[in-house]
Amino acid sequence: SLTGENIHLSFGTNKVLRGVDIHVDAGKTTTVIGPSGSGKSTLLRALNRLHEPEQGDILIDGKSVLKDNPDKLRQRIGMVFQHFNLFPHKTVADNVALGPRKLQGLSKDAARALAVEQLEAVGLGAKADSRPGNLSGGQQQRVAIARALAMKPEIMFFDEATSALDPELVKGVLSLMADLASGGMSMIVVTHEMGFARSVSDTVVFMDHGQVVETGPPSALFENAETDRLRQFLAQVL
Ligand code: ATP
Ligand code: MG
Repeated sequence: SLTGENIHLSFGTNKVLRGVDIHVDAGKTTTVIGPSGSGKSTLLRALNRLHEPEQGDILIDGKSVLKDNPDKLRQRIGMVFQHFNLFPHKTVADNVALGPRKLQGLSKDAARALAVEQLEAVGLGAKADSRPGNLSGGQQQRVAIARALAMKPEIMFFDEATSALDPELVKGVLSLMADLASGGMSMIVVTHEMGFARSVSDTVVFMDHGQVVETGPPSALFENAETDRLRQFLAQVL
């Protein structure tokens, strides 16, 4: 499980996170929804300490990770972003093998075998020796997911993983994410895909202006919103 408790973070005088609580149980999926600028991406970056929170605590399996080496923490959390940032001059397999080789000290052969295995798991075993530029955006995003999974993370963060994709490619990536969730991966997913939030999440967190306005199971938020802010947001996006 991962817990963020009372997370505060500012950029200059801009208080972007103002006491955020978020939790994901082991093997479950928590989805974060909310308007642009509400602090969703910043929250993920605070939780893996790319930006150090000014106040609050981050716990994995009940134990604070704030005193740990941040690089160690980031190896426990796989990140998938809107822009997948694969190395264009490396093969797909080399992109996936890079982290295990450099950060976990795997041999070239062991890293290659792991990369091929992870690519097969996302349906791209046949593309191992292609360059990223020869793959569709959806396939490239699946490579980015395989790259994150190759590090054997305890939890996965997704930040708008499908927002940059052509509409016809969104479904394949969402269904891979849904498969990961049902396979027992712990995930925090920032998304504008309300269908995914509703059908895959165990818990939904609605953020606005750096605070959690409502949280609960999808049925509660989508069918029985308690606040005008959430009702207005849903009216805009559904
Ligand atoms: P979106 O849905 O558009 O991705 P978001 O909810 O992810 O929005 P954030 O990217 O977390 O929002 O941004 C929240 C606020 O923090 C915004 O006011 C933004 O301008 C500010 N912000 C984010 N990153 C930085 C940064 N590196 N430096 C300064 N300000 C930042
Ligand atoms: Mg964002």
